Amino acid sequence: MKYYTPPASSHALVIGGSIAGLLASRILSDHFAKVTVVERDDLPNTPTPRRAVPQEYHVHLLLQRGKRIIEDLFPGLMAELEAQGALVADLSHDVKCFQAGRWKGRWKTGITAHYCTRTLLEYVLRRRVRAIPSVQLFDRSEAQPVFLGPEVIGAKIIAIGGSDRFERTDLVVDASGRGSKSAHWLKDAGLTDVPTEEIITKLGYVSAPFLPSTGTPRDWKVLLCLPRLPQDKRMAVISPVEGGRWMVTAGAWFDQQPEPDHRGLLNYLRALPVPDLFEAVQSASPLDQPRRFRMLGGLRRRYDLVSRWPSGYLVIGDAVCSINPIYSQGMSVSALQAEAMGKAIALHGDDLGAVQRAICAAVETPWQQAAAVEHRFDGIGPAPGLAERLKRRYFDRLAELSHTDPFVAMTMLKVNNLIAPADSLTCPDMVLRAIGLRRETNFRKATHAQST
Ligand SMILES: Cc1cc2nc3c(=O)[nH]c(=O)nc-3n(C[C@H](O)[C@H](O)[C@H](O)COP(=O)(O)OP(=O)(O)OC[C@H]3O[C@@H](n4cnc5c(N)ncnc54)[C@H](O)[C@@H]3O)c2cc1C
Repeated sequence: MKYYTPPASSHALVIGGSIAGLLASRILSDHFAKVTVVERDDLPNTPTPRRAVPQEYHVHLLLQRGKRIIEDLFPGLMAELEAQGALVADLSHDVKCFQAGRWKGRWKTGITAHYCTRTLLEYVLRRRVRAIPSVQLFDRSEAQPVFLGPEVIGAKIIAIGGSDRFERTDLVVDASGRGSKSAHWLKDAGLTDVPTEEIITKLGYVSAPFLPSTGTPRDWKVLLCLPRLPQDKRMAVISPVEGGRWMVTAGAWFDQQPEPDHRGLLNYLRALPVPDLFEAVQSASPLDQPRRFRMLGGLRRRYDLVSRWPSGYLVIGDAVCSINPIYSQGMSVSALQAEAMGKAIALHGDDLGAVQRAICAAVETPWQQAAAVEHRFDGIGPAPGLAERLKRRYFDRLAELSHTDPFVAMTMLKVNNLIAPADSLTCPDMVLRAIGLRRETNFRKATHAQST
């Protein structure tokens, strides 16, 4: 293995100081003498929402894989979240979930999530990044790469309401989110067209914070209602966040989200197949107006297919791949990409085409997992052949079994949390269960079988 040691004076600049930009800057601080993060929004010293990330008013769940990567990069960060009021919940035992016509079984799995707002997570990350001596964060400034032929030689930085300056760099990393202009910038530089893939399912989220009523006994920390896809297109969740509050999110495909007001939200919850969410929210006190977020659907830019990659440039985060948020993958996918970028820089040095391909490869599994679900909607994706129809029946069977069989539930939980490979779902143990030749209702035995 070849390890790359950049020159002592090396400088990397990151465009965008959100989740992907912060994670990228931490990784780059292992490889570059100086790292500059340029963010056009304000970067407050408090856990305050930012204008540039309107999604932060909606439920954000950090999957187990993302949590592990972030904790490795910033040891103790999860404890910090807890100290700031994040609530730790077992993703089976503490989550009461109604899916596809019935309540799921609940077991203590040890797979936990830290429930808090995205605002808090980003603030804690930002504080940690600010403490890295070689990393500097500049807010209220916009950045764009400066090309010299097929090479990025630095960035133009435009202070909002102020002057421009040019900063020479060895590397510019675009972490500017779904609205990234990288594809245009590459084209304008005469390099290439970037192929894109889209799954248009017209997603809508409406969310609001509530203060739960006291004195009501509850046997859950998270209350979730998921649809039977593809017939039903509505989900909703009550998710605990810091400050003893609830974040209530109603999310739907094909514009079926509620109107963004309290009446619309309550009517939507009342129409769900179980009354539990409606009753809980009705007895809670609203803390703010509901907010709406709409997006067309999944979008992936195939920078891995670009034949002539510019030196001095990389793209990461939602700028590469933005998946339907209903699967809670975005921040974990940013973490996976940052991790892949670090390993690839160590391995390939300044062959940045190879590093970009590694970043893109990190999104492959989550993208395919989401696509497999979304392609079930009429008119989305190719018409299914026999093999695809059988596969769908098999996965429906597993979803059914996950209500009662802890082995199946645990395997699906691990795959969904990106900590087990997708092919664990088709291992012999799972196939035998799907065809009814094996069954295990004892959780201890089931998880023991799984770890051996
Ligand atoms: C409704 C919704 C719910 C979601 N729920 C979840 C969830 O449950 N779990 C999960 O893991 N993910 C979730 N996500 C996805 C998650 O928000 C993103 O994947 C995550 O924030 C990573 O995005 P990013 O850092 O790449 O981009 P963003 O968060 O969009 O940030 C891009 C940043 O770049 C800045 N910027 C843009 N252009 C420039 C420029 N030229 N110069 C300087 N700065 C610039 C912007 O101001 C912004 O701060 C959800 C998304 C949405 C929309």
